[in-house]
Amino acid sequence: MLILDGKIASQAVRNELRSRVASLVQAGKRRPHLAAILVGNNGASETYVASKVKNCEEIGFASSLIRMDEQVAETALLDQIRQLNADPAIDGILVQLPLPKQISEQKVIEAIDPAKDVDGFHPANVGKLVQGLPTFIPATPYGIMLMLEYFDIPTKGKHAVVIGRSNIVGRPMSILLSSNLPKGNCTVTLCHSHTPNLAEVCRSADIIVAALGKPGFVKANMVKPGAVIIDVGITRVTDPTAAKGFRIKGDVDYPEVSAVASAITPVPGGVGLMTIAGLLKNTLQAYEQRESE
Ligand code: NAD
Repeated sequence: MLILDGKIASQAVRNELRSRVASLVQAGKRRPHLAAILVGNNGASETYVASKVKNCEEIGFASSLIRMDEQVAETALLDQIRQLNADPAIDGILVQLPLPKQISEQKVIEAIDPAKDVDGFHPANVGKLVQGLPTFIPATPYGIMLMLEYFDIPTKGKHAVVIGRSNIVGRPMSILLSSNLPKGNCTVTLCHSHTPNLAEVCRSADIIVAALGKPGFVKANMVKPGAVIIDVGITRVTDPTAAKGFRIKGDVDYPEVSAVASAITPVPGGVGLMTIAGLLKNTLQAYEQRESE
């Protein structure tokens, strides 16, 4: 059984990006610059944004973290996005989700300049993804594709089952796996909360991508022997014995399923790290596109 180690695969991406930035700097060019907006102080969001900023610094990107109060008005956030859109020094903009109730996520996503939309959530970029045109691929599905490439997992002609149809993970994942890409060309079944025979569908899968946010949901009896398992889930489960009072759990029952699968991503240390790699690649792509204009 192969552990699809996100530390190793993401390190390879970061090494490549670090050396590309080093040559840009050596050639007297500016560094790619990512701006992240964090609204409020949700613990998980704080951790994700801190990790994105740290990774930027580590590979030589410039980064800015803009913090806004939990109570901030939607108009103030939209104004901040417009400022970043107009700022020639900024290549990529990300607004950490989820946002407080008074703010429409859709309005925020649509306010970001599609050329700086390194999360790939803008409808213009999603449209390009669907049509197989060059675009910013949402970071988590992009990271998973990079992981499949790194470990050279065969996908052509395989049956992939994606559990979850969110705009940020499940749906774009189903599009990529079914596209004519080096790690695409799967026959894809997209399952969701109204899928009646989920266990049976999963048992016919060569590849399962679990992105539903229900810890330990995928059990060994739902997995065909030898299947490849990609666990996207990240849920904080209370555990008084853990130093922080919680543990991070994936959507797959790892002890059971790892005994049946041929390859599996651990949680933590799997898809989460690849998500950051995808974001960093998108930021460099935004920089290169803007520099070439
Ligand atoms: P979401 O809540 O937006 O979507 C969940 C999806 O799962 C929905 O489409 C729903 O129909 C489906 N679903 C829920 N219960 C189901 C069931 N019993 N059977 C079948 N389908 C079911 O979630 P999301 O934003 O896509 O995130 C999913 C998980 O992935 C969460 O745990 C989230 O924290 C995690 N996540 C991880 C990363 C990462 O970098 N590793 C990135 C994004 C999200």
